[in-house]
Parts: sequence; C-alpha cells; structure tokens
Amino acid sequence: MQTLLLASGDHASNDTGSLILLVLFALVLYGAACAIWPFRSCRTCGGSGRFRSPSGRAWRYCRRCNGTGAKLRLGRRILTYLANTRDRGTRGHRD
Ligand SMILES: [Zn+2]
Repeated sequence: MQTLLLASGDHASNDTGSLILLVLFALVLYGAACAIWPFRSCRTCGGSGRFRSPSGRAWRYCRRCNGTGAKLRLGRRILTYLANTRDRGTRGHRD
C-alpha cells in the first residue's frame, strides 16, 4: 500500500502550477486577514492617534488618521471596492 502511495506522488510536478497555487493561497489568506483585521496603525502617529506637545500636557489629534490611529489596509480597500462593484452589478437595474 505504502509503495503505491509513494509512486503516485512521484510524477514530475509542474513547478509553475504549484507556485501559482501558493500565491493564490497567500492572497486568500491575506484577504481573510484584511476582512478580520481591516486596520493597520497609522504611520504618522504610530497608532496612538495624537501627538503630544514637548511639555507633555497638551496634545493634538493626528491629521493623517483624524485621531483614530488607524488606517484602512490596502487589501481591505480592494475588498470594499470588489463588494461595491458586485453590488452595482446585481442592483444595477433602475427605473
Ligand atoms: Zn495618525
């Protein structure tokens, strides 16, 4: 039995095909990650959303992220874009 299994896995495998599969798999994982964790921390303020004055008593909101400290990830923006185009396709009929 075991020799049969080993022999069946011994074909000359298509390297390009497996590479594409691997990339697709990584993309699916990235898409799932962007669906679950849509935000990354803002680079300007490091995710804190505000800047402290040198005195340490005053602070202001980060203008880049409007004080949220979060930026939408690129993958999430692509997902939203895809969802919007799909919506337009199914609900495109208007009177
Ligand atoms: Zn920020």
